[in-house]
Amino acid sequence: MKQWGEMKEMLNRYRWMAAMPILLLAATGILECRVRPQHSGTAGVAPAGSPAGKADYPRSVAEALTQYEQQHGGPLDLTIDTRLQGAVESAFETADKPGAAVVVDARSGAVLALHQVSGLVTDPLWQATCPGSTVKAFLALAVLHEGVVRPDETIECTGTYPVEETSFSCFNTHGPLDLSLALVTSCNLYFYEMAHRLGIDRLALHYGQFGVGQPTGIELPGETVGVLPDRQWWTKNEVEYRDRYALIVGIGHGPMVMTPLQLARAYAGVATGKLPRLTLLEKTQTADDTSPIELPYSNEHRAAVTQALRSVVDHEQGTGQRAKVNEFGIAGKTGTAEFGGSWEFEAQPDNGWFAGYGPAIDPQIVVVVFVEGGQNGGQSAAPIAGQIFRMWHSITQ
Ligand SMILES: [Zn+2]
Repeated sequence: MKQWGEMKEMLNRYRWMAAMPILLLAATGILECRVRPQHSGTAGVAPAGSPAGKADYPRSVAEALTQYEQQHGGPLDLTIDTRLQGAVESAFETADKPGAAVVVDARSGAVLALHQVSGLVTDPLWQATCPGSTVKAFLALAVLHEGVVRPDETIECTGTYPVEETSFSCFNTHGPLDLSLALVTSCNLYFYEMAHRLGIDRLALHYGQFGVGQPTGIELPGETVGVLPDRQWWTKNEVEYRDRYALIVGIGHGPMVMTPLQLARAYAGVATGKLPRLTLLEKTQTADDTSPIELPYSNEHRAAVTQALRSVVDHEQGTGQRAKVNEFGIAGKTGTAEFGGSWEFEAQPDNGWFAGYGPAIDPQIVVVVFVEGGQNGGQSAAPIAGQIFRMWHSITQ
């Protein structure tokens, strides 16, 4: 059995292996993914007003689509909304940051916009990285569903959580928090306790419900599916499982990695109670069963989590305030996460995430924004998401 140092080394090696399918595809010319250390900043866009299906996508996506069209006797009628795609590009251009954004119809799973600006190390749309605190929304639903906490039960954040022969820290000393305030402040200690109460088996079961470690269904070759670290995962990698690992997975770190597409699908699940299959093709063009998968979470529990996610954006202590728009309510969660892509990138600054949906009372769209090296998701990703929500509103009104 491996010790912690060895395990960390193994994890890093494993992450590199997780990126290998993309590299192999690139090497064989099937799909060009620019996994190389340079900042191109030249990701493509769909110019506003261009006809559906004719948009100029990020190069790797465009090539994948071309290949798909050739295989399926295209041209294809795509779900991409060219006005929204243009708006997403504008939002990234204004921010002048590498990253990715995914906009999805919350109920059908139709991908309305898909954009990336290549970063220093990779094409973020295709790279599974640690989702960080964005997964606390799934953990909140899981603990309510399992009845291991009441929504009004308070846990005191003292800044330090003792576990086994060590202790984990929170980034702040938050004091007493109920579930809602824990999401609003993104307190790690509260969610360490929740992950501890669930244990790795139930944690993995629930994260799996949200599609972690599974393909989204999107019609693009070479999709990376990330990693859902269940108990077997540790065993398979010859690591003696320790209870504290559940706490790391509980806050979206360690070996757990997801893509922006997976996160968008999972948030559609939070928003609607059903996990849709993501698609880039208008319905008439696919014979496959695209029915969303019903999730086990009650309307009452989803309403409680949605209310808390609204407060993430609206509350004065909320970490997602910069995603706020005047036109309608947004429910969302920020994340600040280690890179989690490869041992080569260990020294890279943290990535910033925002995942959310709106209007909160009748979710229509899910927006996920990833900013490579953006560090604080509330500062880097949330403002871009806010701009996308605002532009979606102006387009659809
Ligand atoms: Zn805390």
